[in-house]
Amino acid sequence: MARTPLIAGNWKMNENHIEATGLVQKLSWALIDGQYEPEKSEAAVIVPFTDIRSVQTLIEGDKINIAFGAQDVSKYDKGAYTGEVSAPMLAKLNCKYVVVGHSERREYHGESDELINAKAKKVIEYGMTPIICVGEVLAVRKEGRQIEHVLAQTKGVLAGLTPEQVSSLVIAYEPVWAIGTGEVATPADAQEVCGAIREYVKGEFGEEAAEGVRIQYGGSVKSSNVVEIMAEPDVDGALVGGASLDAEEFARIVLFYKA
Ligand code: PEP
Repeated sequence: MARTPLIAGNWKMNENHIEATGLVQKLSWALIDGQYEPEKSEAAVIVPFTDIRSVQTLIEGDKINIAFGAQDVSKYDKGAYTGEVSAPMLAKLNCKYVVVGHSERREYHGESDELINAKAKKVIEYGMTPIICVGEVLAVRKEGRQIEHVLAQTKGVLAGLTPEQVSSLVIAYEPVWAIGTGEVATPADAQEVCGAIREYVKGEFGEEAAEGVRIQYGGSVKSSNVVEIMAEPDVDGALVGGASLDAEEFARIVLFYKA
């Protein structure tokens, strides 16, 4: 089964809804200029909640070939949870992807694997695709325990899912020490952990789930390093932070397959 690479731009808490439409428009032009072929590399923007409606209106109105999604979701459907946004609300806006368990949510909001698992289940329940983040901090990498650590996270975040559900979701391996630091894992580092995640999925959920699940690398990905990272057999895309705020640079990353 061929996996279409997913290049997803995580805008984090950047761009208001007016800036967002400008950025998506510029990205669309840059992709058209680059003769983008979505079946070779799927582009997605993961935007702040307040941008989603504007981004949806532009993308659907102009039939732009870019997927969009949200950066987080509540584990509840509705009710007295002030400040939360639910999966049915995001589904109603036609979000395709929802990132869950980003390391910034784990670190600043104390999110556990159990909570991330509950969020991923909600995303799937409402017909969207979770991009579930895992990754080790520097201290763990220095002790050489990155695989053990990431597989424990993977076990927790995938608990209770069916093989069919696992086969269509996305796991983003993001070593925390490489996020926003300019420090990139080597392609071999990325492959080591992405390969171990796929082996784990194979052991727990079977061959088809392992063949279908897309495993992204994330951490200071740029057009200058994406080609060698994407050449690794178990890396099926990238979750891109900083570089996704520059339309032309992000388009170059999406178009990595032309290099
Ligand atoms: C991220 O936010 O998921 C990320 C990988 O950020 P950056 O590309 O800026 O390291």
